[in-house]
Parts: sequence; structure tokens; C-alpha cells
Amino acid sequence: MPRPIQATIHTQALRQNLNRARQAAPDAQVWAVTKANAYGHGIERVFEGLRGADGFALLDLSEAERVRALGWRGPILLLEGVFEARDLELCSRLHLWHTVHCDEQIDMLALHKTHEPHRVFLKMNSGMNRLGFAPERFRSAWTRLNALPQVDEISLMTHFSDADGPKGISGQMARFAEATRDLPGERSLSNSAATLRHAQDAAVKADWIRPGIAVYGSSPDFPEHSAEHWGLQPAMSLNAQIIAVQHLQAGDSVGYGSSFVAEGPMRIGVVACGYADGYPRICPTGTPVLVGGVPSRTLGRVSMDMLTVDLDGLADAGVGSQVTLWGRSATGQTLSIDAVAQAAGTVGYELMCALAPRVPVVVQD
Ligand SMILES: *Cc1c(COP(=O)(O)O)cnc(C)c1O
Repeated sequence: MPRPIQATIHTQALRQNLNRARQAAPDAQVWAVTKANAYGHGIERVFEGLRGADGFALLDLSEAERVRALGWRGPILLLEGVFEARDLELCSRLHLWHTVHCDEQIDMLALHKTHEPHRVFLKMNSGMNRLGFAPERFRSAWTRLNALPQVDEISLMTHFSDADGPKGISGQMARFAEATRDLPGERSLSNSAATLRHAQDAAVKADWIRPGIAVYGSSPDFPEHSAEHWGLQPAMSLNAQIIAVQHLQAGDSVGYGSSFVAEGPMRIGVVACGYADGYPRICPTGTPVLVGGVPSRTLGRVSMDMLTVDLDGLADAGVGSQVTLWGRSATGQTLSIDAVAQAAGTVGYELMCALAPRVPVVVQD
């Protein structure tokens, strides 16, 4: 028997979450963002659940090749565009749409030999200060691109830094609107947080939305709002089993560094999941888990291959019991990945992206 740990990808949840994003922006087309191997879920594993999207947005050419290999003939967008001139050849061959965020990418396009002109997304830096042309340089970049025979249609995009927080999107949205006022082309502005939190804004009503995290069932603005609040279901579950039980007396400690010490007699379960599976080592005593679908907590330090859970009040739990680290239990209870991420001082994104290759994954409908 393989080590009893398994991740499950829930196809139906992906479908439902994608629909949820559509509901928020009924007139927009939807890029399902599948960068980072579909946020750790696996591009091939999410494809069935997300094929109802209008396109796939990702970063790596190799990921674009994988989406084409699955038979997808629709739009694919490279969110960071090309990294060197050679990449443009693959864009031509695979009909990839690509972001243009800097002069160097325009230079490469100007030298590119292609029979079919490319569809590009010209990116504005409206305040995030990562990628894109400053608003005052946007028009000249557009004019230069528009003059190239290598370029077909130019769409306009930007990315929000604070769609999930109190600062919001209005400042960046206004800057974008002002600098693109009389430029033609489709617009794409909103990530998950903007799509769900600012559904009434023009940014979300633009031509393309770009939800990522919401599609995978994690809340973009936890703890202000839970995934449940947004009507999102976990697309990934991580479950393992108890492989040993220990009986502690007052003063007994658990695991490396003896960081948890029992105050009285207690039963604990040793679970076949550790940081080498992608479970954060930093999670302290008290991080939520489900044991046989019932809420409990971790105890002591997470080690490479194991962690320990409290079996207090769980008389039926023992070797072989299912422990849900996040997502859905066999009995249908849910533990939000966002709650576990919060205990680790991070966000659901990081946990799902860090699922380790050694964890077997099954795809469920
Ligand atoms: C990752 C990414 C998104 C998706 O962001 P979420 O917060 O996961 O919805 C959208 N747009 C761009 C440019 C991105 O890089």
C-alpha cells in the first residue's frame, strides 16, 4: 500500500467556481488563469473542469504547449509575454496571444518574421509597478505596436494591486480609463478579488476578466470573506490517514523541539503528512484539521513526513482514520485552505502551489 496521503482535484467544483466568476461579470469573457501548473492543481487535471472558460491565461510556453496538447484550440494568453525573441516563433506556431509590457518586447516583435500577425495585450502599469508601460507612455507604445505588420489586434490590460483590500481599485481604474480613453481594443483588468468584490465597477464589466484563485475555490480576501461567502468550493483536497496513536501523560511532549507539552492524559494521532508533502512546517499547534470529518487541531511541530493531531473527544478515531488537511473530507465536511494558510501566516495560493510532487493526486468529478 502506498503511503496513505492523497490530494483530490474536484472537477465539479472547478466548473461551479468558474460559473461563479461568470455570474459576477455576465458580459465578460473569462480567462481561467492556469499559471504555476494551475496553481499547483496540474494543468491536465483541471482542464476538464475549466474547459468552459473562454481562454487560458498562463506564463510558461511549456504550459501553453500542454494546453494545446490537450486539444484546446481557443485563446491562450501569456501573461508576461515572451522572454526572448525565439519565443515568438512558438507564439506564431501555437497561435498564442501574448502580453506586451515593455519596449524590448516591441523590439522583438518588430524583428519577428510571421505570416499571421499576432494578437497582443498591451499592459499598463497603473500603479502596481511590476509590469507595464506607465500611463503617459502607453499611447506611444500602442502607436508603435499598431504600426507593426506583425501585430493584428491590440487589447489593453492592467493589473490591480489592492483589489482585495481597503484601497480598492478606483485609483488604478481611473488612471487606466484616462490613459486609454480613445484607444480601440478589448479591455482586461480584473483578477478574482476585483471580479468578486467590485462586480459593479466598469473594470469588471470590461471584456475579459482574469480569475485565478477563485476558480480554485479559495477566497481572494480571506479573512474578510470566506470562500463559502463567495459561493466557492474547494477544487483541491489534501487528505491523509492516521498511521499511529500515542497516549500521553501530563508533561509528555510531542515531536521535534518538544514544542507541545501535554497538561494531562491525552490521545494523539500521527498523520502521514509533513512538510515534504507541501504542508507548511510553520503551522503552529492549533492549526485546524478534520479527523474523520470532525474539527480538531495539530499538536507540536510539523516534521518532514508526519504531523500530529489531537484526538481528544474523538474516541472513534484511530489508525486508518482520515485526516483532512484542507478541502473536503470523505464524509463531505470542508476545511478551508484559507484557514490553514492563515495559521501559516500566508495565503491559500501558496499552499496549493506548494503541493509536493510526491503526493499522489486523483481527479474526481
Ligand atoms: C495571477 C494573475 C491573475 C489572477 O489573480 P488571482 O488573484 O489568482 O485571481 C490575474 N492577472 C494576472 C496578470 C495575473 O498574473
